[in-house]
Amino acid sequence: MDRRRFAIRTYGCQMNVHDSEKVANLLHHAGLDAADEAEADVLVVNTCSIRDKAEQRLYTDLGLLRAWKAERPGRLVGVGGCVAQQQGDAILERFPQVDFVFGTHNLRFVPAMVAEAARGQRSARTEETRDLDRFDLPQRHPAYASPSPGRAFVTVMEGCDLYCTFCIVPQTRGREISRPADDIVAEAQTLADEGVCEITLLGQTVNAYGRHDLRRDRADRAGTVAFAELLRRLDRIPGLERIRYTSPHPIFFDAALVRAHGELEHLCPHVHLPLQSGSDAILERMRRRYDRESFLGIAQALRRARPDLTLTSDLIVGFPGESEADLQATLDTVEQAGFADSYSFKYSPRPGTKAAQEPGQIDPGVAQDRLERLQALQRRLTLAYHRSRVGERTEILIEGPSARARRGGPAQVAGRDPHQRVVNLAVRVAGDAPIPQPGERVPVEIVDATPHSLLGTQIPLRAVKTAAGSADEDLRNAVLSVSGPGSL
Ligand code: SF4
Repeated sequence: MDRRRFAIRTYGCQMNVHDSEKVANLLHHAGLDAADEAEADVLVVNTCSIRDKAEQRLYTDLGLLRAWKAERPGRLVGVGGCVAQQQGDAILERFPQVDFVFGTHNLRFVPAMVAEAARGQRSARTEETRDLDRFDLPQRHPAYASPSPGRAFVTVMEGCDLYCTFCIVPQTRGREISRPADDIVAEAQTLADEGVCEITLLGQTVNAYGRHDLRRDRADRAGTVAFAELLRRLDRIPGLERIRYTSPHPIFFDAALVRAHGELEHLCPHVHLPLQSGSDAILERMRRRYDRESFLGIAQALRRARPDLTLTSDLIVGFPGESEADLQATLDTVEQAGFADSYSFKYSPRPGTKAAQEPGQIDPGVAQDRLERLQALQRRLTLAYHRSRVGERTEILIEGPSARARRGGPAQVAGRDPHQRVVNLAVRVAGDAPIPQPGERVPVEIVDATPHSLLGTQIPLRAVKTAAGSADEDLRNAVLSVSGPGSL
C-alpha cells in the first residue's frame, strides 16, 4: 500500500508556523510523507484567532475542503491552532468534513488522531496541561525538509499571564510555562550541528522566560535561568551565528537583557518591541503595564547598548474610546521611537476579551482612516531608515527568489540581514555563475532602498557558507521559471 501523504495549511504568527513544523515532523516520524495539498491524503489546517478575519477564513476554508475531501475516498481533514483550542468539539459538530481537532497543547497526539480518524473515529483533544511533556518532541526526521534552510525556531516558553484586554492569546495558549534551559541549549546545539546558523527563540512573551521560577525561588528545580543568561549560554554554541527572539514584552527588559544586546556577539541587532498604542490612556485600558515614557526609555536604553539596533513594532488603531488626540500620541511615539517597520492593525473585538465589552467602539471608517495615516507615517520612516543603510556592507542569509522575482520581475534572490531587513540581490541566471542558495550567508553592499526592501550587490561573488547542501539547480530553475534568463 502507498504511504499516506500530508499537507499543512498555516495561518497566523510564527508560533503557529513553528507548531506546523512540529506537526510535520511528527507525521514524518509516523511514516507519512509531505506532499502538495492536491496530492495529500491528510490536510491539517493550523488556525489563528487573533483577528476576526482569520477565524472567518477557517470557516471559508472548511466549506471549500468538502470538495477536496470528496475527490478521493479516505482523505482526512484536521484542524489545529487557536480556533481549535477555543472551539474544540463544536468544530466537529458544525463541520462533518472535519475528522480531528487538536488544541495548542496537544500537538503530540496528532499522529494517533490521524490513525484513529483513518479507522473512522473522529476526535477532539483540547485539554490544557501544565506539564512539560508537550515540549518533549522528537528530533528532526531525516525526511523532514525545513522550509527555511539555515534557520530554525526554538520554543523557549509558551502561554501568557498578562491578559491585555484586547488579546485572546491567554485563552488559546494557556498559562506561562518555560522549558528547562538545558533542553533549549541542547536543541540549539543539535540544530547548529545540522547546519542551522540562525535561531529565533519563540514565546508569547519570550523575555518573560523563567520569571515565575526565579520569583518563586524554584529556578534550580525547574532548570530555568534568567532570559539574559539563556541568551549568554546560546551565544557560546559554535556555529550559531545569529540569535533572535520574538515577541518580547516591554516590561520584561531588565538591565541584564539590555546589556546583553551590547555584549553578545551573535545576538542580532534587531528587537521587535510591541508598542500597541502611544497614548497613556489607551495603554492603561489595554492593560499593557507601561506608559509612553517608559517604553521610549527602553528603546533608548537598547540603542545606547547597541547603537546600530533596529527597532520594529506592533500597533493597534481604533481601540475602543480612542480619540484623535490618542491617535496623535501614537503617531508621535512611532516617530520618536523611529521604528524601521511595524505591523499595524485596526482593533477587532475578540469574544471573551474585556475590551470587546468596552463602550466607545470606533466606527470602522474612522479606524480605517487612522490606519492609513499610521501606515503612511511608517512608510516614510521605513524609507528613511532604508536610505540610511545605503553604502553599508552587511551579510544576508538567503531565503529564495525575491518577491519581485516570484511575480515575474527581475532575476533576484532575497535574504535577510542581521537587522531582519529583506535585501534583494540581483543574480545571473545565464551561464555557470553560482546562484546563492537558501541557507547561504552572502556578504553584500547595500546599493539602493525602497519602502519595502533593500537592494544589494554581492561582495565578493562567492558565498561564505552553505547550510543547504547543493540545491543550486533547483533555485536556478525557480528563478528562471519566474524571471526568464538574463540578469538585472
Ligand atoms: S502580552 Fe498581551 S498581547 Fe501579548 S500575548 Fe499576552 S495578552 Fe496577548
